[in-house]
Amino acid sequence: MPRGPSEYLESLRDGRVIYYRGKRIDDVTTHPVIGIAARHAADLFSVEDRLYDDPNYGRISRYFKIPRSANDLLDRHRLIYNDTMRFDGMFNIIQAIGSDALFSLMIVTKKVDAKYGTHYFERVAKYYEYVVKNDLALAVAQTDVKGDRSRRPHEQPDPDLYVRVVEVRDDGIVVNGAKIHTTQGPVANEIIFLPYRAMVEGDRDYAVAFAIPANARGVKFIVRPVLEYDGNPNAVNARTRFEVESLTILDHVFVPWDRVFLFREWEFAGPLAWYFATYHRFTAISYRAATANLYLGAALLAARANGIENAPHVRDWIVKMIMYKEIMRMGAMTAALEPLIDEGIAVPNPIYTNVSKLYSNEHFIDVVHGLIDIAGGLIATMPSHEDYANPEERQYISKYVRGAVDGDARYRIMSFVRELASSHLTGYLLTAMIHAEGSEAASKIGMMREYNFREAEELVNRIISKLRI
Ligand SMILES: Cc1cc2nc3c(=O)[nH]c(=O)nc-3n(C[C@H](O)[C@H](O)[C@H](O)COP(=O)(O)OP(=O)(O)OC[C@H]3O[C@@H](n4cnc5c(N)ncnc54)[C@H](O)[C@@H]3O)c2cc1C
Repeated sequence: MPRGPSEYLESLRDGRVIYYRGKRIDDVTTHPVIGIAARHAADLFSVEDRLYDDPNYGRISRYFKIPRSANDLLDRHRLIYNDTMRFDGMFNIIQAIGSDALFSLMIVTKKVDAKYGTHYFERVAKYYEYVVKNDLALAVAQTDVKGDRSRRPHEQPDPDLYVRVVEVRDDGIVVNGAKIHTTQGPVANEIIFLPYRAMVEGDRDYAVAFAIPANARGVKFIVRPVLEYDGNPNAVNARTRFEVESLTILDHVFVPWDRVFLFREWEFAGPLAWYFATYHRFTAISYRAATANLYLGAALLAARANGIENAPHVRDWIVKMIMYKEIMRMGAMTAALEPLIDEGIAVPNPIYTNVSKLYSNEHFIDVVHGLIDIAGGLIATMPSHEDYANPEERQYISKYVRGAVDGDARYRIMSFVRELASSHLTGYLLTAMIHAEGSEAASKIGMMREYNFREAEELVNRIISKLRI
Protein backbone atom coordinates (compact mmCIF):
# COMPACT_ATOMS: atom_id res chain seq x y z
CA MET A 1 0.00 0.00 0.00
CA PRO A 2 1.29 3.50 -0.77
CA ARG A 3 2.28 5.32 2.39
CA GLY A 4 2.00 8.88 3.60
CA PRO A 5 4.77 10.81 5.39
CA SER A 6 3.53 9.93 8.87
CA GLU A 7 3.39 6.20 8.11
CA TYR A 8 6.92 6.37 6.75
CA LEU A 9 8.16 8.23 9.84
CA GLU A 10 6.37 5.80 12.13
CA SER A 11 8.10 2.90 10.38
CA LEU A 12 11.49 4.26 11.49
CA ARG A 13 10.65 3.74 15.17
CA ASP A 14 11.85 0.15 15.12
CA GLY A 15 14.76 -0.08 17.55
CA ARG A 16 17.46 0.50 14.92
CA VAL A 17 20.92 1.24 16.29
CA ILE A 18 22.15 4.71 15.37
CA TYR A 19 24.89 6.80 16.89
CA TYR A 20 25.31 10.52 16.43
CA ARG A 21 28.18 12.49 17.91
CA GLY A 22 29.00 9.82 20.44
CA LYS A 23 25.47 9.08 21.59
CA ARG A 24 22.89 6.44 20.75
CA ILE A 25 19.69 7.87 19.24
CA ASP A 26 16.43 6.44 20.59
CA ASP A 27 14.00 7.85 18.06
CA VAL A 28 15.43 9.02 14.78
CA THR A 29 12.25 10.91 13.85
CA THR A 30 12.39 13.26 16.84
CA HIS A 31 16.16 13.76 16.93
CA PRO A 32 16.95 17.48 16.48
CA VAL A 33 19.39 16.79 13.62
CA ILE A 34 18.69 13.37 12.10
CA GLY A 35 14.96 14.08 12.37
CA ILE A 36 15.42 16.72 9.67
CA ALA A 37 16.93 14.17 7.27
CA ALA A 38 13.97 11.89 8.09
CA ARG A 39 11.45 14.67 7.35
CA HIS A 40 13.26 15.51 4.10
CA ALA A 41 12.76 11.87 3.08
CA ALA A 42 9.16 11.92 4.40
CA ASP A 43 8.34 14.81 2.08
CA LEU A 44 8.73 12.44 -0.85
CA PHE A 45 5.72 10.51 0.44
CA SER A 46 3.55 13.61 0.26
CA VAL A 47 4.17 14.41 -3.42
CA GLU A 48 0.78 14.41 -5.09
CA ASP A 49 1.55 12.70 -8.40
CA ARG A 50 4.23 10.31 -7.14
CA LEU A 51 2.29 7.11 -7.90
CA TYR A 52 1.33 5.42 -11.14
CA ASP A 53 -0.79 2.40 -12.04
CA ASP A 54 1.49 -0.51 -12.77
CA PRO A 55 -0.17 -3.40 -14.65
CA ASN A 56 1.46 -5.98 -12.34
CA TYR A 57 1.76 -4.27 -8.98
CA GLY A 58 -1.09 -1.74 -8.85
CA ARG A 59 -0.56 1.79 -7.62
CA ILE A 60 3.13 2.19 -6.79
CA SER A 61 5.84 4.85 -6.65
CA ARG A 62 7.12 6.06 -10.02
CA TYR A 63 10.68 5.51 -8.79
CA PHE A 64 10.10 1.76 -8.98
CA LYS A 65 8.84 1.74 -12.55
CA ILE A 66 11.15 -0.67 -14.38
CA PRO A 67 12.49 1.22 -17.42
CA ARG A 68 11.77 -0.66 -20.64
CA SER A 69 12.42 2.09 -23.18
CA ALA A 70 14.05 5.44 -23.89
CA ASN A 71 10.83 7.16 -22.86
CA ASP A 72 10.78 5.42 -19.48
CA LEU A 73 14.33 6.63 -18.85
CA LEU A 74 13.42 10.15 -19.92
CA ASP A 75 10.53 10.07 -17.45
CA ARG A 76 12.90 8.84 -14.76
CA HIS A 77 15.30 11.72 -15.47
CA ARG A 78 12.44 14.23 -15.22
CA LEU A 79 11.16 12.63 -12.02
CA ILE A 80 14.53 13.01 -10.31
CA TYR A 81 15.10 16.52 -11.68
CA ASN A 82 11.61 17.72 -10.72
CA ASP A 83 11.72 16.21 -7.24
CA THR A 84 15.11 17.79 -6.58
CA MET A 85 13.61 21.15 -7.59
CA ARG A 86 10.58 20.49 -5.40
CA PHE A 87 12.83 19.82 -2.41
CA ASP A 88 14.67 23.14 -2.66
CA GLY A 89 17.46 21.93 -4.93
CA MET A 90 18.51 19.05 -2.66
CA PHE A 91 18.38 15.47 -3.86
CA ASN A 92 15.92 13.11 -2.15
CA ILE A 93 17.56 9.71 -2.53
CA ILE A 94 15.21 7.46 -0.58
CA GLN A 95 13.54 5.61 -3.46
CA ALA A 96 15.92 6.61 -6.28
CA ILE A 97 19.05 4.75 -5.21
CA GLY A 98 17.17 1.63 -4.18
CA SER A 99 15.48 1.37 -7.55
CA ASP A 100 18.88 1.88 -9.25
CA ALA A 101 20.06 -1.18 -7.31
CA LEU A 102 16.95 -3.24 -7.99
CA PHE A 103 17.13 -2.68 -11.78
CA SER A 104 20.80 -3.69 -11.84
CA LEU A 105 20.06 -6.78 -9.71
CA MET A 106 17.25 -7.78 -12.09
CA ILE A 107 19.62 -7.69 -15.05
CA VAL A 108 22.64 -9.37 -13.45
CA THR A 109 20.78 -12.14 -11.59
CA LYS A 110 19.30 -13.29 -14.91
CA LYS A 111 22.83 -13.71 -16.21
CA VAL A 112 23.99 -15.55 -13.09
CA ASP A 113 20.96 -17.85 -13.24
CA ALA A 114 21.65 -18.57 -16.94
CA LYS A 115 25.20 -19.62 -16.13
CA TYR A 116 24.68 -21.52 -12.88
CA GLY A 117 21.02 -22.61 -12.87
CA THR A 118 20.50 -20.59 -9.68
CA HIS A 119 17.23 -18.81 -8.81
CA TYR A 120 18.41 -15.37 -7.84
CA PHE A 121 16.14 -13.54 -10.25
CA GLU A 122 13.06 -15.04 -8.56
CA ARG A 123 14.35 -13.82 -5.22
CA VAL A 124 14.98 -10.32 -6.57
CA ALA A 125 11.52 -10.25 -8.17
CA LYS A 126 9.92 -11.33 -4.88
CA TYR A 127 11.90 -8.76 -2.94
CA TYR A 128 11.02 -6.07 -5.50
CA GLU A 129 7.33 -6.91 -5.03
CA TYR A 130 7.70 -6.62 -1.26
CA VAL A 131 9.42 -3.24 -1.63
CA VAL A 132 6.98 -1.69 -4.11
CA LYS A 133 3.83 -2.99 -2.42
CA ASN A 134 4.97 -1.66 0.95
CA ASP A 135 6.27 1.57 -0.60
CA LEU A 136 9.57 1.23 1.25
CA ALA A 137 12.41 3.69 1.70
CA LEU A 138 15.75 2.22 0.62
CA ALA A 139 19.42 2.95 1.02
CA VAL A 140 22.21 1.24 -0.89
CA ALA A 141 25.48 0.33 0.77
CA GLN A 142 27.97 -0.40 -1.98
CA THR A 143 31.14 1.39 -0.92
CA ASP A 144 33.26 -0.79 1.32
CA VAL A 145 35.72 0.77 3.74
CA LYS A 146 38.41 -0.85 1.55
CA GLY A 147 41.55 -0.54 3.67
CA ASP A 148 44.67 -0.47 1.49
CA ARG A 149 43.34 0.56 -1.91
CA SER A 150 46.14 -1.23 -3.75
CA ARG A 151 45.02 -4.63 -2.42
CA ARG A 152 42.11 -6.82 -3.36
CA PRO A 153 39.51 -7.74 -0.74
CA HIS A 154 41.11 -11.06 0.19
CA GLU A 155 44.59 -9.49 0.34
CA GLN A 156 43.75 -6.96 3.07
CA PRO A 157 45.56 -7.25 6.41
CA ASP A 158 42.14 -7.31 8.15
CA PRO A 159 39.69 -9.63 6.36
CA ASP A 160 36.66 -7.46 7.26
CA LEU A 161 37.60 -4.40 5.19
CA TYR A 162 35.19 -5.52 2.48
CA VAL A 163 31.84 -7.01 3.54
CA ARG A 164 32.12 -10.79 3.44
CA VAL A 165 30.38 -14.05 4.22
CA VAL A 166 31.66 -15.52 7.50
CA GLU A 167 29.21 -18.37 7.99
CA VAL A 168 26.94 -20.44 5.74
CA ARG A 169 23.87 -21.94 7.37
CA ASP A 170 20.94 -23.98 6.10
CA ASP A 171 18.65 -20.98 6.39
CA GLY A 172 21.01 -18.27 5.17
CA ILE A 173 24.39 -16.60 5.56
CA VAL A 174 26.11 -14.50 8.18
CA VAL A 175 27.92 -11.41 6.92
CA ASN A 176 30.51 -9.21 8.58
CA GLY A 177 32.29 -5.96 7.74
CA ALA A 178 31.34 -2.35 7.12
CA LYS A 179 30.27 -0.06 4.32
CA ILE A 180 30.85 3.66 4.37
CA HIS A 181 29.16 6.84 3.09
CA THR A 182 25.71 5.15 3.10
CA THR A 183 23.34 8.01 2.29
CA GLN A 184 20.11 8.00 4.32
CA GLY A 185 20.76 4.47 5.64
CA PRO A 186 19.71 5.57 9.15
CA VAL A 187 16.31 6.71 7.85
CA ALA A 188 15.69 3.88 5.37
CA ASN A 189 13.50 0.83 5.91
CA GLU A 190 15.81 -1.49 4.02
CA ILE A 191 19.46 -1.46 3.03
CA ILE A 192 20.61 -3.19 -0.15
CA PHE A 193 24.25 -4.30 -0.07
CA LEU A 194 26.14 -4.61 -3.35
CA PRO A 195 29.77 -5.43 -4.20
CA TYR A 196 31.91 -2.35 -4.82
CA ARG A 197 34.31 -3.73 -7.42
CA ALA A 198 35.28 -6.49 -9.81
CA MET A 199 36.64 -9.52 -7.99
CA VAL A 200 38.84 -12.56 -8.56
CA GLU A 201 38.30 -16.12 -7.39
CA GLY A 202 40.18 -15.49 -4.16
CA ASP A 203 37.55 -12.87 -3.31
CA ARG A 204 34.65 -15.38 -3.46
CA ASP A 205 33.47 -14.68 0.07
CA TYR A 206 33.28 -10.98 -0.74
CA ALA A 207 31.16 -11.48 -3.86
CA VAL A 208 27.86 -11.08 -2.10
CA ALA A 209 24.70 -9.02 -2.59
CA PHE A 210 21.73 -8.98 -0.23
CA ALA A 211 19.09 -6.87 1.47
CA ILE A 212 18.32 -6.46 5.17
CA PRO A 213 15.98 -4.30 7.24
CA ALA A 214 17.70 -1.30 8.83
CA ASN A 215 16.89 -2.68 12.28
CA ALA A 216 18.36 -6.15 11.64
CA ARG A 217 20.32 -7.48 14.60
CA GLY A 218 24.00 -6.52 14.33
CA VAL A 219 23.48 -3.48 12.04
CA LYS A 220 24.86 -0.24 13.48
CA PHE A 221 24.95 3.21 11.89
CA ILE A 222 27.49 5.84 12.91
CA VAL A 223 26.27 9.07 11.33
CA ARG A 224 28.48 11.90 10.05
CA PRO A 225 28.27 15.20 11.94
CA VAL A 226 25.88 17.45 10.03
CA LEU A 227 28.09 20.54 10.35
CA GLU A 228 26.13 22.53 7.78
CA TYR A 229 23.25 22.64 10.27
CA ASP A 230 24.23 21.32 13.68
CA GLY A 231 25.44 24.23 15.83
CA ASN A 232 25.14 26.62 12.90
CA PRO A 233 22.59 29.37 13.55
CA ASN A 234 23.40 30.83 10.12
CA ALA A 235 22.05 27.85 8.18
CA VAL A 236 19.53 28.73 5.47
CA ASN A 237 18.40 25.85 3.23
CA ALA A 238 20.23 23.44 5.55
CA ARG A 239 17.66 24.17 8.26
CA THR A 240 15.28 21.82 6.49
CA ARG A 241 17.15 20.08 3.69
CA PHE A 242 19.99 17.62 4.05
CA GLU A 243 20.70 13.92 3.92
CA VAL A 244 22.92 11.99 6.28
CA GLU A 245 25.66 9.47 5.56
CA SER A 246 26.83 6.75 7.89
CA LEU A 247 29.54 4.24 8.54
CA THR A 248 27.29 1.18 8.32
CA ILE A 249 28.55 -1.71 10.41
CA LEU A 250 27.49 -5.31 9.97
CA ASP A 251 28.49 -7.13 13.11
CA HIS A 252 27.76 -10.76 12.20
CA VAL A 253 24.39 -10.12 10.60
CA PHE A 254 22.19 -13.02 9.54
CA VAL A 255 20.63 -12.83 6.04
CA PRO A 256 18.01 -15.46 5.08
CA TRP A 257 18.51 -17.09 1.67
CA ASP A 258 15.51 -15.38 0.07
CA ARG A 259 17.30 -12.06 0.59
CA VAL A 260 20.65 -13.18 -0.84
CA PHE A 261 21.05 -12.10 -4.48
CA LEU A 262 24.67 -13.06 -5.18
CA PHE A 263 26.71 -15.59 -3.28
CA ARG A 264 30.29 -16.32 -4.26
CA GLU A 265 29.72 -15.97 -8.05
CA TRP A 266 32.75 -13.69 -8.02
CA GLU A 267 32.83 -13.03 -11.78
CA PHE A 268 29.49 -11.22 -11.50
CA ALA A 269 30.59 -8.81 -8.76
CA GLY A 270 32.11 -6.48 -11.39
CA PRO A 271 29.06 -6.47 -13.71
CA LEU A 272 26.72 -5.86 -10.76
CA ALA A 273 28.85 -2.93 -9.59
CA TRP A 274 28.93 -1.60 -13.16
CA TYR A 275 25.17 -1.74 -13.82
CA PHE A 276 24.41 -0.12 -10.49
CA ALA A 277 27.01 2.59 -11.08
CA THR A 278 25.53 3.33 -14.51
CA TYR A 279 21.98 3.70 -13.20
CA HIS A 280 23.16 5.67 -10.22
CA ARG A 281 25.28 8.07 -12.27
CA PHE A 282 22.26 8.70 -14.47
CA THR A 283 20.40 9.56 -11.27
CA ALA A 284 23.34 11.77 -10.28
CA ILE A 285 23.40 13.88 -13.43
CA SER A 286 19.62 14.25 -13.19
CA TYR A 287 19.69 15.65 -9.65
CA ARG A 288 22.89 17.62 -10.20
CA ALA A 289 21.26 19.55 -13.04
CA ALA A 290 18.57 20.63 -10.59
CA THR A 291 21.03 21.41 -7.79
CA ALA A 292 22.92 23.64 -10.26
CA ASN A 293 19.88 25.95 -10.19
CA LEU A 294 20.78 26.90 -6.62
CA TYR A 295 24.11 28.26 -7.82
CA LEU A 296 22.76 29.83 -10.98
CA GLY A 297 19.89 31.51 -9.13
CA ALA A 298 22.14 32.71 -6.31
CA ALA A 299 24.68 34.07 -8.82
CA LEU A 300 21.99 36.04 -10.66
CA LEU A 301 20.60 37.50 -7.43
CA ALA A 302 24.04 38.28 -6.01
CA ALA A 303 25.11 39.98 -9.26
CA ARG A 304 21.96 42.12 -9.19
CA ALA A 305 22.44 42.91 -5.50
CA ASN A 306 25.98 44.07 -6.25
CA GLY A 307 24.94 46.05 -9.35
CA ILE A 308 27.29 44.06 -11.61
CA GLU A 309 24.92 41.88 -13.57
CA ASN A 310 26.05 43.29 -16.91
CA ALA A 311 29.78 43.16 -16.24
CA PRO A 312 31.52 40.92 -18.85
CA HIS A 313 33.25 38.69 -16.30
CA VAL A 314 29.95 38.13 -14.49
CA ARG A 315 28.28 37.12 -17.72
CA ASP A 316 31.15 34.68 -18.34
CA TRP A 317 30.51 33.02 -14.98
CA ILE A 318 26.79 32.85 -15.63
CA VAL A 319 27.46 31.17 -18.98
CA LYS A 320 29.70 28.61 -17.21
CA MET A 321 26.89 27.89 -14.76
CA ILE A 322 24.35 27.49 -17.56
CA MET A 323 26.77 25.10 -19.28
CA TYR A 324 27.21 23.11 -16.10
CA LYS A 325 23.49 22.70 -15.61
CA GLU A 326 22.60 22.02 -19.22
CA ILE A 327 25.45 19.57 -19.85
CA MET A 328 24.09 17.54 -16.94
CA ARG A 329 20.64 17.69 -18.45
CA MET A 330 21.78 16.95 -22.00
CA GLY A 331 23.85 14.04 -20.74
CA ALA A 332 20.86 12.55 -18.95
CA MET A 333 18.54 13.07 -21.89
CA THR A 334 20.91 11.62 -24.49
CA ALA A 335 21.74 8.72 -22.16
CA ALA A 336 18.00 8.06 -21.96
CA LEU A 337 17.48 8.38 -25.72
CA GLU A 338 20.22 5.88 -26.62
CA PRO A 339 19.89 3.19 -23.94
CA LEU A 340 21.21 -0.34 -23.92
CA ILE A 341 18.36 -2.82 -23.67
CA ASP A 342 19.59 -5.70 -21.55
CA GLU A 343 17.40 -8.59 -20.31
CA GLY A 344 14.42 -6.48 -21.45
CA ILE A 345 15.39 -3.53 -19.22
CA ALA A 346 16.60 -0.14 -20.47
CA VAL A 347 20.01 0.90 -19.13
CA PRO A 348 21.08 4.54 -19.59
CA ASN A 349 23.79 4.90 -22.22
CA PRO A 350 26.97 4.47 -20.16
CA ILE A 351 29.18 6.73 -22.29
CA TYR A 352 26.85 9.74 -22.22
CA THR A 353 26.18 9.12 -18.55
CA ASN A 354 29.88 9.04 -17.69
CA VAL A 355 30.80 12.01 -19.91
CA SER A 356 28.28 14.17 -18.14
CA LYS A 357 29.09 12.83 -14.67
CA LEU A 358 32.80 13.49 -15.27
CA TYR A 359 32.01 17.02 -16.43
CA SER A 360 30.20 17.53 -13.17
CA ASN A 361 33.16 16.12 -11.18
CA GLU A 362 35.57 18.48 -12.89
CA HIS A 363 33.50 21.67 -13.15
CA PHE A 364 31.47 21.99 -9.98
CA ILE A 365 34.45 23.79 -8.49
CA ASP A 366 34.16 26.39 -11.30
CA VAL A 367 30.53 26.96 -10.39
CA VAL A 368 31.52 27.62 -6.77
CA HIS A 369 34.42 29.81 -7.95
CA GLY A 370 32.03 31.88 -10.06
CA LEU A 371 29.60 32.40 -7.22
CA ILE A 372 32.38 33.46 -4.84
CA ASP A 373 33.78 35.89 -7.41
CA ILE A 374 30.39 37.47 -8.05
CA ALA A 375 29.41 37.69 -4.36
CA GLY A 376 32.61 39.27 -3.03
CA GLY A 377 34.38 38.70 0.29
CA LEU A 378 31.28 39.53 2.33
CA ILE A 379 30.25 35.88 2.28
CA ALA A 380 33.28 35.07 4.41
CA THR A 381 33.09 38.07 6.76
CA MET A 382 29.47 39.16 7.09
CA PRO A 383 27.82 39.61 10.50
CA SER A 384 25.84 36.66 11.82
CA HIS A 385 22.10 36.13 11.84
CA GLU A 386 22.22 36.73 15.61
CA ASP A 387 23.74 40.16 14.99
CA TYR A 388 21.19 40.91 12.32
CA ALA A 389 18.39 39.96 14.70
CA ASN A 390 19.60 42.46 17.32
CA PRO A 391 17.84 45.80 16.55
CA GLU A 392 20.78 47.82 17.92
CA GLU A 393 23.10 46.30 15.33
CA ARG A 394 20.63 45.73 12.55
CA GLN A 395 20.24 49.43 11.70
CA TYR A 396 23.98 49.62 11.01
CA ILE A 397 24.30 46.29 9.26
CA SER A 398 21.32 46.99 7.04
CA LYS A 399 22.67 50.46 6.19
CA TYR A 400 26.19 49.30 5.40
CA VAL A 401 25.60 46.02 3.59
CA ARG A 402 23.30 47.58 1.03
CA GLY A 403 24.33 47.33 -2.61
CA ALA A 404 22.21 47.99 -5.69
CA VAL A 405 19.35 46.68 -3.54
CA ASP A 406 18.54 47.62 0.06
CA GLY A 407 20.49 46.20 2.97
CA ASP A 408 17.84 43.73 4.03
CA ALA A 409 17.57 42.21 0.55
CA ARG A 410 21.34 41.99 0.08
CA TYR A 411 21.87 40.49 3.54
CA ARG A 412 19.35 37.75 2.80
CA ILE A 413 20.88 36.94 -0.58
CA MET A 414 24.42 36.90 0.77
CA SER A 415 23.36 34.67 3.69
CA PHE A 416 22.32 32.03 1.25
CA VAL A 417 25.34 32.60 -0.98
CA ARG A 418 27.54 32.09 2.10
CA GLU A 419 25.87 28.73 2.69
CA LEU A 420 26.39 27.69 -0.92
CA ALA A 421 29.92 28.99 -1.45
CA SER A 422 31.67 29.60 1.87
CA SER A 423 30.47 27.12 4.47
CA HIS A 424 30.52 23.55 5.73
CA LEU A 425 27.87 22.80 3.12
CA THR A 426 30.26 24.01 0.40
CA GLY A 427 32.91 21.58 1.56
CA TYR A 428 30.42 18.76 1.76
CA LEU A 429 29.06 19.47 -1.73
CA LEU A 430 32.51 19.89 -3.28
CA THR A 431 33.43 16.46 -1.95
CA ALA A 432 30.09 14.96 -2.94
CA MET A 433 30.34 16.32 -6.48
CA ILE A 434 33.75 14.66 -6.87
CA HIS A 435 33.19 11.35 -5.09
CA ALA A 436 29.49 10.59 -4.69
CA GLU A 437 28.23 8.09 -7.29
CA GLY A 438 31.83 6.93 -7.82
CA SER A 439 35.24 8.57 -8.11
CA GLU A 440 36.53 10.26 -11.26
CA ALA A 441 39.00 7.43 -11.84
CA ALA A 442 36.16 4.88 -11.79
CA SER A 443 34.30 6.80 -14.51
CA LYS A 444 37.44 7.18 -16.61
CA ILE A 445 38.31 3.50 -16.38
CA GLY A 446 34.74 2.68 -17.45
CA MET A 447 34.89 5.06 -20.40
CA MET A 448 38.20 3.71 -21.67
CA ARG A 449 36.90 0.15 -21.43
CA GLU A 450 33.55 0.80 -23.11
CA TYR A 451 34.32 3.46 -25.66
CA ASN A 452 34.11 2.48 -29.29
CA PHE A 453 37.35 3.88 -30.75
CA ARG A 454 36.89 2.17 -34.13
CA GLU A 455 35.22 5.08 -35.90
CA ALA A 456 38.02 7.49 -34.99
CA GLU A 457 40.80 5.04 -35.77
CA GLU A 458 39.34 4.08 -39.13
CA LEU A 459 39.03 7.72 -40.11
CA VAL A 460 42.69 8.40 -39.42
CA ASN A 461 43.80 5.13 -41.02
CA ARG A 462 41.88 6.04 -44.18
CA ILE A 463 43.62 9.40 -44.38
CA ILE A 464 47.14 8.16 -43.75
CA SER A 465 46.73 5.25 -46.14
CA LYS A 466 46.34 7.81 -48.95
CA LEU A 467 49.63 9.39 -48.11
CA ARG A 468 52.21 8.76 -50.86
CA ILE A 469 55.64 9.06 -49.30
C1 LIG B 1 28.28 12.58 -0.11
C2 LIG B 1 28.52 11.17 -0.53
C3 LIG B 1 27.46 10.28 -0.59
C4 LIG B 1 27.68 8.95 -0.93
N1 LIG B 1 26.63 8.06 -0.91
C5 LIG B 1 26.86 6.74 -1.09
C6 LIG B 1 25.83 5.78 -0.91
O1 LIG B 1 24.68 6.13 -0.65
N2 LIG B 1 26.15 4.47 -1.04
C7 LIG B 1 27.41 4.03 -1.33
O2 LIG B 1 27.62 2.84 -1.44
N3 LIG B 1 28.41 4.93 -1.53
C8 LIG B 1 28.16 6.26 -1.41
N4 LIG B 1 29.18 7.17 -1.58
C9 LIG B 1 30.50 6.65 -1.86
C10 LIG B 1 31.15 7.00 -3.18
O3 LIG B 1 30.70 6.17 -4.20
C11 LIG B 1 32.66 6.89 -2.92
O4 LIG B 1 33.03 8.02 -2.17
C12 LIG B 1 33.50 6.76 -4.15
O5 LIG B 1 33.25 5.54 -4.77
C13 LIG B 1 35.00 6.86 -3.81
O6 LIG B 1 35.34 5.93 -2.82
P1 LIG B 1 36.11 6.40 -1.50
O7 LIG B 1 35.37 7.53 -0.91
O8 LIG B 1 36.35 5.21 -0.66
O9 LIG B 1 37.46 6.99 -2.00
P2 LIG B 1 38.71 6.17 -2.52
O10 LIG B 1 38.27 5.08 -3.41
O11 LIG B 1 39.58 5.84 -1.39
O12 LIG B 1 39.40 7.27 -3.40
C14 LIG B 1 40.51 8.09 -2.96
C15 LIG B 1 41.51 8.14 -4.09
O13 LIG B 1 42.11 6.86 -4.24
C16 LIG B 1 42.06 6.47 -5.61
N5 LIG B 1 42.04 5.00 -5.65
C17 LIG B 1 41.16 4.18 -5.04
N6 LIG B 1 41.48 2.88 -5.31
C18 LIG B 1 42.57 2.90 -6.10
C19 LIG B 1 43.38 1.90 -6.70
N7 LIG B 1 43.13 0.61 -6.53
N8 LIG B 1 44.44 2.30 -7.46
C20 LIG B 1 44.71 3.62 -7.64
N9 LIG B 1 43.97 4.61 -7.08
C21 LIG B 1 42.92 4.26 -6.32
C22 LIG B 1 40.79 7.11 -6.13
O14 LIG B 1 40.77 7.19 -7.55
C23 LIG B 1 40.88 8.47 -5.46
O15 LIG B 1 41.75 9.31 -6.19
C24 LIG B 1 28.98 8.51 -1.26
C25 LIG B 1 30.04 9.42 -1.23
C26 LIG B 1 29.83 10.73 -0.86
C27 LIG B 1 31.00 11.67 -0.80
